[in-house]
Amino acid sequence: MQQIVLASGNKGKLAEFEQMFSPFQIEVLPQSQFDVTEVPETGTTFVENAIIKARHAAKITGMPAIADDSGIEVDALNGQPGIYSARYSGENANAVSNYQKLLEAMTDNTIRTARFQCVLVYMRHAEDPTPIICQAAWEGTLTHEPIGEQGHGYDPIFIPNGSNETAAQMSSEMKNAQSHRGKALALLLTQCKAKGIIK
Ligand code: IMP
Repeated sequence: MQQIVLASGNKGKLAEFEQMFSPFQIEVLPQSQFDVTEVPETGTTFVENAIIKARHAAKITGMPAIADDSGIEVDALNGQPGIYSARYSGENANAVSNYQKLLEAMTDNTIRTARFQCVLVYMRHAEDPTPIICQAAWEGTLTHEPIGEQGHGYDPIFIPNGSNETAAQMSSEMKNAQSHRGKALALLLTQCKAKGIIK
């Protein structure tokens, strides 16, 4: 069976990728299984950071690797927090401290448009000069207070366009069907099929 390493320690993401590739006899293994340490995300774009993570995992394991990088862009803040979404409120950031800081930064702002971005990268090997890069966004607006208990990260303060609920009020099925990650995963599957990586 063909194997791919996932450059992430996140169990939810591993489950998503396992589910996506299992019909094609491809096993997705977490990088933790190979003692791959976290690599500093020194890029200035989602694309660069995803490539850095995929290249690092491929280099250490000698296997093809997938990585993702995601975050939220707020128009009134010139796209911030963007690639810094996970660490927006500092070293000991967590989801609540991050979205509270974002709500504070947006207190007097009436322009509340924002989007989640997701970039997925597949590298055949560490020196792959043409990684497969898939990118998708989920457009919406920011609330003035957190609403909802589901999901993670900035979900409680994000209302997707066309919805009356925040992402944290949606079931995971509903979210996956329209989210940045769901759409990027679908694109990756199409690309992997088109390039003969999966049959
Ligand atoms: P990472 O790609 O898992 O490192 O996520 C980067 C940051 O963006 C984290 O702070 C996440 O909470 C946030 N983020 C990415 N996707 C989502 C989402 O679907 N909902 C809420 N927050 C997200």
